[in-house]
Amino acid sequence: MTKAASRTGDPLLLLAGGSNVVIGDDGFAGTAILIRSRGVEVISRRPDQLIIRVQAGHPWDEFVAETVTAGWAGVECLSGIPGSTGATPIQNVGAYGQDVAETISSVTVYDRADGVIRDMPAADCGFGYRASIFKHNERFVVLSVDFRLRPATESGPVRYAELARSLGVTQGDRVPLAAARETVLTLRAGKGMVLDSGDRDTWSVGSFFTNPILDGGAWEKLRAATEGTGEPPGWPGEGGRVKVSAAWLIDRAGFGKGYPGGDVPVSISTKHTLALTNRGSGSTAQLLGLAREIRDGVRDRFGVLLHPEPVLVGCEI
Ligand SMILES: Cc1cc2nc3c(=O)[nH]c(=O)nc-3n(C[C@H](O)[C@H](O)[C@H](O)COP(=O)(O)OP(=O)(O)OC[C@H]3O[C@@H](n4cnc5c(N)ncnc54)[C@H](O)[C@@H]3O)c2cc1C
Repeated sequence: MTKAASRTGDPLLLLAGGSNVVIGDDGFAGTAILIRSRGVEVISRRPDQLIIRVQAGHPWDEFVAETVTAGWAGVECLSGIPGSTGATPIQNVGAYGQDVAETISSVTVYDRADGVIRDMPAADCGFGYRASIFKHNERFVVLSVDFRLRPATESGPVRYAELARSLGVTQGDRVPLAAARETVLTLRAGKGMVLDSGDRDTWSVGSFFTNPILDGGAWEKLRAATEGTGEPPGWPGEGGRVKVSAAWLIDRAGFGKGYPGGDVPVSISTKHTLALTNRGSGSTAQLLGLAREIRDGVRDRFGVLLHPEPVLVGCEI
């Protein structure tokens, strides 16, 4: 079907779980393809590593649960993320100190430009923070993803401070895989980051904005702008760049949890500042109106421009 749509030039929308797209109120004029392939297969096994092939439509969290049960370490901290496995390379899905770029060994794609199936090693996927060559690029359809995991009953070193605290260990310690998974699920549920149809705080795309990455000069400017309100949480990266907490900026710009409050169609989640939620009757126009208000408020207060994390289809912020 993808081949046929590519031949006719018909606009094509690939959709799997739909958990990271915002679609305009007028819908999508073209062919939408739902990716529903399933399957997990061990394709090579050595004492120190396994290569596991997962079909694109396979629900991500089912795969993570299976790795924990089987004793395959490497993705346990990515528990509870909605959507499909084939979408995880698109924005290099990450949480709680892990991202999929660390364990993906290759991605099998259908290349719509050349009309062929290719295996792309991880080094060719352009992985970065919530980014890859697949994001905002209609050329590649992910068919399956190969993960390189470790046979182990313990997790990798716990990197994320909040997770280590909740597990009662020091950052860098290892914990049983099941403990890592359960603790991540509990932390995520407390923030409305595990889908629950009865909890409107989870009716979101997860984080609406990415954490901005500032160069050294912009970071110093931000520190000056926030003098007196406490230093913004920042994580140093390569080349003197600093990744800054978007949630902190949004909150300090006056958009706290639950904003704007009252009986409204869309609002910030009452549990997480980064999640913009539909309270039941919201439209995309209303959601994006709220996103614009927040983006402009942060820019005016701190001079930092926030960028949306989800893929916007037939709409823009
Ligand atoms: C409550 C909640 C919490 C979340 N938490 C996190 C988190 O902690 N970390 C994180 O990184 N993300 C998080 N997300 C975002 C989302 O779950 C992930 O991005 C997920 O990988 C999207 O999967 P999906 O199958 O729903 O993709 P979709 O929303 O269906 O698609 C997303 C994009 O990928 C493209 N795409 C999907 N499948 C394919 C394919 N096989 N080939 C080519 N393109 C494809 C689509 O065209 C679209 O552009 C969260 C979302 C929600 C709702």
